[in-house]
Amino acid sequence: MNNPSDSGITNNKLVIAHRGASGYLPEHSIAAKAMAYAMGADYIEQDVVMTKDNHLIVLHDPYLDRITNVMSVYPDRYRENFGEKRWFAIDFSLQEIKGLSMTEAFSVNSKTNKLTTNYPSRFPLFKSSFHVSTLEEEIELIQGLNHSTGKNIGIYVEIKTPWFHQYEGKDISKATLKVLKDYGYITKEHKVFVQCFDPDETRRINDQLMPELGIDLNLVQLIAQTSWNETMRFTNGKLVPYSYDWFFEAGAMAKIAEYADAIGPWKSMLVTEDSEPGNLKISSMVKDAHAVGMQVHPYTFRADEERIPKYANSFDQLLDIFFYTVGVDGIFTDFPDKAVQFLQK
Ligand code: CA
Repeated sequence: MNNPSDSGITNNKLVIAHRGASGYLPEHSIAAKAMAYAMGADYIEQDVVMTKDNHLIVLHDPYLDRITNVMSVYPDRYRENFGEKRWFAIDFSLQEIKGLSMTEAFSVNSKTNKLTTNYPSRFPLFKSSFHVSTLEEEIELIQGLNHSTGKNIGIYVEIKTPWFHQYEGKDISKATLKVLKDYGYITKEHKVFVQCFDPDETRRINDQLMPELGIDLNLVQLIAQTSWNETMRFTNGKLVPYSYDWFFEAGAMAKIAEYADAIGPWKSMLVTEDSEPGNLKISSMVKDAHAVGMQVHPYTFRADEERIPKYANSFDQLLDIFFYTVGVDGIFTDFPDKAVQFLQK
């Protein structure tokens, strides 16, 4: 926790461990979550997707091939996805997924078949032993640590691609909320945020699913660029990207505040990428969100040298800009230790 002698504002700033302490250990491994916990993060993030046999697993992508050896274990069990071969979690049982080795994010060179790590300074590929966890296993880790340390660290659960799960006949939001309820997350006082990129689904969670289950949790509307194809719709039999353009228009934050408690924007939506040192271009999004009572938790803050925007000369300065010039309420970071230390200064 932050030092109680800090200013009131400082005390409210949240450090959200993005996929765990993913700057140091493979994202979403149990080890990365335990490390984030020990580093003093306020919340630890879980991305959730569903298996063929309806288990909820903690995985960033709907597919397994970016961080596991699924391609070599099950070479034929891929789907074509926008011209690429992808091994989707929804086509595998939990038992099959549990048998895979998990590692740092990598990509495969299509000509040489060689693996390249996405972050050269991070944990080496396929060393030690990591495996995909279920949502329940991860909640039990964090609740177990809360018990053994006497702290009360939160979970920050993202429901991934609900439109895709629905197309496959699965209601991932309902299943996730049921697990949260079973583990005692019932009201907004409980230390959980539920986040989703799909605005229709976030609204459905608030208006329909949570009332049906008798729970009322803090909801976060994540914001994507339309061009990322993060949220899709079937229109006239074709997949088309959901348009996020209205999020950047006047009055958008008031609409989101009808169903959400916070927004999770990309950090470049708050400080534009053409900003220069000493000449920051700050959008009105934080001011507009605060005006309607919503918190702002942007993603993703990475201390890897090549990931610090040119308008900041260090990771600390980047944090300083966002926490104290832009005025965000929390940040998603792969390096929770650095953000915790910054806030304690
Ligand atoms: Ca996420």
